[in-house]
Amino acid sequence: MAGAYDDRDGKIWMDGKLVEWRDAKVHILTHALHYASSVFEGERCYNGKIFKGVEHSIRLRKSAELLDMEIPYSVEQIEEAKYAMLKANGWTDAYVRAVAWRGAGEDMGVSAARNPVRLAVAGWEWGAYYGDAKMKGAKIDIAKWKRPSPETIPTAAKAAGLYMICTMSKHAAEAKGFSDALFMDYRGYVAECTGANIFFVKGGEVHTPLADAFLNGITRQTVIAMLREQGVTVHERHIMPDELEGFEQCWLTGTAAEVTPVGQIGPYTFEVGQLTRDTAAAYEKLVRA
Ligand code: PMP
Repeated sequence: MAGAYDDRDGKIWMDGKLVEWRDAKVHILTHALHYASSVFEGERCYNGKIFKGVEHSIRLRKSAELLDMEIPYSVEQIEEAKYAMLKANGWTDAYVRAVAWRGAGEDMGVSAARNPVRLAVAGWEWGAYYGDAKMKGAKIDIAKWKRPSPETIPTAAKAAGLYMICTMSKHAAEAKGFSDALFMDYRGYVAECTGANIFFVKGGEVHTPLADAFLNGITRQTVIAMLREQGVTVHERHIMPDELEGFEQCWLTGTAAEVTPVGQIGPYTFEVGQLTRDTAAAYEKLVRA
């Protein structure tokens, strides 16, 4: 076991330089810790190359902007930081976590425009996100929480505050023996899981929720483009929960999840079919190309 995430050997990039893993700390009066002024990215490096690294760095800066924060590093500088961190740890295959947050400073109230925006890039070796679900299909619970309206919170940001109900829903799911939980959105449409987007197959065509109230994942966009290139019809549309019964196959997409087959959502079951297996294999090939 590598041990607790704050007690490991290695290097973390923090505010412009590489520091010892155990020294990558923040003060207790960090604004982000109290008010969720934090955005992050999850990326995977395959064979020494981060898949869609630039897209992730652009999204990180965009997420920060949506939270009224300007990251004091350009996309190019963030890219350099990620590769410097990977090199310092001797990794060619790793998960990469960039995080930007409003730090401690002159303000400790809700308003904190004078506090510095900070950036760190860490990484770790991370295998299959859903364990052996890649073969058998993940078992997914239905979350009691709903994905919020874009009028309530900036739903296009990959922001810490949006994950509060994800952690709660995933804990509840795991306590019942499920791997993850599926959210409906504030209107009742099928939305996404706690860290992954969702796809369904029916009659050889693919259906996936329209990303108008949740994170439009980079993996989601990659898989849609890949399927369309292969001539598969993909419908991005609002999906009602009562449609779940009629879908034949289902999979999740995400940087960590990659393409993970789903065998069950609540009372509904799905087969790990040919299109699911082909899509998972094609994605694996693409990220290592
Ligand atoms: N939705 C949520 C809530 C997520 O955390 C993630 C993982 N970043 C995704 C979707 C998938 O996004 P991506 O494909 O960009 O990793």
